[in-house]
Amino acid sequence: MKVLDSHFASEKLNQFKSDFQVEIVPDWGKGDRKSSGNWQTGSWARDELDVLYDTICLFAEIMGGNGKLIQQLGGITVQKTDIGSHGGEAYAHQVRFSKNGPVSPWTIVHECAHAWDANYGWKLSRELERYTYGFTSLFLSRLKKRLGFWDAGPNGKENAPGRQGRRPGCNHAGYFYGDKPSGSSWLFDRREDFAEAVAMYVGWERGNTLSDHARKRIVRYANFKNGEKDDFGVVDNWEDYARYFYPAGGDYTKTRRWKFVDELIQGKIIFK
Ligand SMILES: [Zn+2]
Repeated sequence: MKVLDSHFASEKLNQFKSDFQVEIVPDWGKGDRKSSGNWQTGSWARDELDVLYDTICLFAEIMGGNGKLIQQLGGITVQKTDIGSHGGEAYAHQVRFSKNGPVSPWTIVHECAHAWDANYGWKLSRELERYTYGFTSLFLSRLKKRLGFWDAGPNGKENAPGRQGRRPGCNHAGYFYGDKPSGSSWLFDRREDFAEAVAMYVGWERGNTLSDHARKRIVRYANFKNGEKDDFGVVDNWEDYARYFYPAGGDYTKTRRWKFVDELIQGKIIFK
């Protein structure tokens, strides 16, 4: 954040608080004695605050208004910090983004979805797993490996097409996803599934800042041949994976994940 933009930033922070009960932890400002009072720019840029604001606004709109978002997430604190190689992480009332890069709309919704799930004691992702007829079993995952129905190496994902661990149960968690998610990876589990399902729901065919990403997640199984690079720069055997991830007619609204998030937002999902 430049000195010139700091007035704008402090107004924006107030807006985050009053509109969404979102508290941004500023990492910019007048330096302390250690930095001899020099301005600290930190890792947030002015446009990033705009992207964050607009994305939360969009998420709130889809959820049914600011009040609904506040009620579901219960208020969050947002920080940019050093969190290693991943883009973000979230717990109840807390979202952290990597300070090493700009935040993207997709990551924002993904992490907010984790915070939402966490605010409900991670019950939302459990419910998604049940709703989509999935389950988690390390025992069956190991059995699958032993029997050779495995698309990864003996110690997990390998950096080669058809070896990344995308089949049901072929991941670190032993997560056998049901129905058709938009994709899967070695780190996929019910919580990641929920966060990705929410981002897909927000983006799918709505013409917003997540829509291009959402579409590319699905069309790759129809548009790319085995060994080709998809729109995210990933090489894999897309034709082989179509049976796990490509929805009927390429229409993601036909999946149980889309229906689940839709019903969840409309308050139709009853928790036991
Ligand atoms: Zn995640």
